[in-house]
Amino acid sequence: MSPDRQEQLRGLPAVGRLLEHPRVRQWLRETSHRTVVAAVQDAIAEVRRRILASPREPDAGPDAVPAAVLDLAEQFLQVRRRPSLRRVVNATGIVLHTGLGRAPLCPAAVEAITEAAGGYSNLEFELDTGTRGKRQHHVAELIAELTGAEAATVVNNNAAATLLILSALAGGSEVIVSRGQLVEIGGSYRLPAIMEASGARLREVGTTNRTRIRDYAAAISDETALLMSVHTSNYRIVGFTEETPISEIAELAHRAGLPALHDLGSGALLDLARYGLPHEPVVADSIAAGADLVCFSGDKLLGGPQGGIICGRRDLVQRLEAHPLMRAFRVGKLTLFALEATLRHYTDPIAATQAIPALELLLTDSDELAPRAKQLQDLLAAALPEERFIVCSDVSYAGGGSLPTNELETVVIQWRPAALRADAVAANLRTAEPPLIARVRDDAIILDLRTVRDRDFSDVVAAARHAVAHDA
Ligand SMILES: *Cc1c(COP(=O)(O)O)cnc(C)c1O
Repeated sequence: MSPDRQEQLRGLPAVGRLLEHPRVRQWLRETSHRTVVAAVQDAIAEVRRRILASPREPDAGPDAVPAAVLDLAEQFLQVRRRPSLRRVVNATGIVLHTGLGRAPLCPAAVEAITEAAGGYSNLEFELDTGTRGKRQHHVAELIAELTGAEAATVVNNNAAATLLILSALAGGSEVIVSRGQLVEIGGSYRLPAIMEASGARLREVGTTNRTRIRDYAAAISDETALLMSVHTSNYRIVGFTEETPISEIAELAHRAGLPALHDLGSGALLDLARYGLPHEPVVADSIAAGADLVCFSGDKLLGGPQGGIICGRRDLVQRLEAHPLMRAFRVGKLTLFALEATLRHYTDPIAATQAIPALELLLTDSDELAPRAKQLQDLLAAALPEERFIVCSDVSYAGGGSLPTNELETVVIQWRPAALRADAVAANLRTAEPPLIARVRDDAIILDLRTVRDRDFSDVVAAARHAVAHDA
């Protein structure tokens, strides 16, 4: 090793000595000892790494190393103090992006949460009698009204809904499901695993691509507790296929004195085909077709908070609500406030498509995106004259395991950075404030206007500035 480097390494201060430094003592008054020590240790390690990686800066004085450690420690400390959960700008074009929190809430839901969060509410309290009430009941009637079901209840998410239904209605018995519907949803949800956890036994019938009603009929025995149909929400089996409609499954179940469950996954409350999107099964149609219970997510096509909604026969909903898992899966008050506000929009379908951001974003025509893309392009070009931004058409997806085969026509800004690689710029965009998440393709950053709202424009410009100024 060069004597130069050895001297610089000797200049690295010890943690204990740095803790005496006035700057660090100030940090210790504002932040926990443990956090400050960790930031200082990380800074020393990083400066050591940099010394070993590159020769000394020509004009560095004797205090350069300790000063570099302190500056870096301050940066690390800022990062450690920052909240871990943060708002981001979604420029991926994926409307129901599970990694980015799925559906953005409508203003009415945000208002409801804001109003409820800091105080008390009639969450489990009957205002007319002054007695203890049930939290799910605030939304149950509304869900029943919107779906045509007798009764409804809500749990934490659709995975919990499925587990609750299987445990309460089929624990220790068999559930008949088509082989083509044993779904895996991202983030570790696999139907066979949920089934196992519930204590129900999976009875697979048919083949991957074809399951007929007689396959279900032949599998029914004394062991059967439930017939289940699962909407293959995040994939399609195409070609030589046959799926038995829920109406036939329900009819067969009823003849055998059994209930039929329809797990819809996305759970559209409106027929999206009317508004130009591909058909997704509508909850009310499953109920009308005879499904005894239907379950679906609150934060997919419904466009509300995370939740698992169950609707159907009153006696079955009551059995679910009496099960011990119901208590374990109960939803928080903020969820219920947001869910009620979201559901209220659905009493007027046209208003719902305008007021609920997930629907509004999915239904926006690419013709409407083009002028907004041009506007953002102008702002970016003015802020970064040495970079080139091109507006072009592209496709995006709904995401969140909804409308999987449907390509949404969209408009994007393609940015091939002048000096840096696109993935380095994408990484820098993620360290902006707020972070910006974008796709990278063919060494270009793709900013999709479907999910970038007008109010995000200034954040996009700031992130782009930060991304090229930032030494990667
Ligand atoms: C998304 C989905 C689930 C899981 O729902 P979460 O609300 O994410 O728990 C279960 N089943 C199907 C068919 C789904 O599409």
